[in-house]
Amino acid sequence: MNWSDAFGAQRKSKRQRAASIMAASGAMRILEKLPRRNCLVVLNYHRIGSRSDTVGDPNLYSATPGDLDEQITWLKSRYHIASLDEAIRFVEGRTAFPDAAILITFDDGYKDNFDYAYPILRNHKVQGTFFICTSYIGSQQLPWWDRIAYMVRNSRSEQLTLNYPERLNFDLSSNKLATINRLLSIYKSGHAIDKERFMKEISRATGVEREPSDQRLFINQHELREMAQNGMAIGSHTHSHPLLSHLPKDLQLEEVLLSKRILERETERKIQSIAYPVGSSDSFDQRTHEALRQAGYRIAFSFYGGKNIAGKIPPFDVKRHHVGLGEGASLFRVRAATSAILGQPLL
Ligand SMILES: [Zn+2]
Repeated sequence: MNWSDAFGAQRKSKRQRAASIMAASGAMRILEKLPRRNCLVVLNYHRIGSRSDTVGDPNLYSATPGDLDEQITWLKSRYHIASLDEAIRFVEGRTAFPDAAILITFDDGYKDNFDYAYPILRNHKVQGTFFICTSYIGSQQLPWWDRIAYMVRNSRSEQLTLNYPERLNFDLSSNKLATINRLLSIYKSGHAIDKERFMKEISRATGVEREPSDQRLFINQHELREMAQNGMAIGSHTHSHPLLSHLPKDLQLEEVLLSKRILERETERKIQSIAYPVGSSDSFDQRTHEALRQAGYRIAFSFYGGKNIAGKIPPFDVKRHHVGLGEGASLFRVRAATSAILGQPLL
């Protein structure tokens, strides 16, 4: 399967064509002169690199190192890039920005964040906030989303038939990526699914029983400490990356408390922020908010869009926007510029 081909359709999306037209017509220069809102725009990255770098889920790449460097250069020349501490104070109404400020965040704690993002941010003297899933620190094991992708990509059969959670048929000869995305969405979808059984069923159907574990995938303790000591901010992404709302309250509390304790021990910094795994509006609930309060968090980030306007930000639902690999400089810039004017991207 050629991943570039699979993503080709996305590269020529309507959003991207619209952004190119805006850039070519000079609309971008007008956008940059419009008044900005007093808001916090939070960008969210996952992996840095190329889709061909992984044996797992190719969807997770947000930028190549070159893209990221260019994006930070562009943002820094136009906007205030906030630190996590400034963002917390802004959300709590204890500080103001002159206009729109940008916060740069990364989820999951993949090693490529240390290898590529950290040196770029450090070079620009810009703080990134890295949300770390503590059970993966230093891990060589594929997390559930990469395991699903790996099994589909290495399936022994082109026809995949699952008998759980219902009978499902997939033709892998035409589009493996669509199958990966469908299986990931089933995994994320409901309380009712026995996730272990679902993984075993994919393993049985694909004939893939073992995944590679010869390369370290995630940031280790030493790298985490180095990043924290050199100006990067660290937050929690729970301990084992569950959808919190699928867990009873006591297990939610355990996830957020344990990850906070481990990160505080490793970084010798107070951990006050968390990014919800998956981050959709149904990935957390009131019980999650209670657990966060009890554990001593001040701010929590979701991942389903929306705006963070001064004085109107629920501290446990600070909105973030996706940065996607291959979206191109025009789309990135139009999204950032319109976010600064409207609070959220137009495209
Ligand atoms: Zn995550």
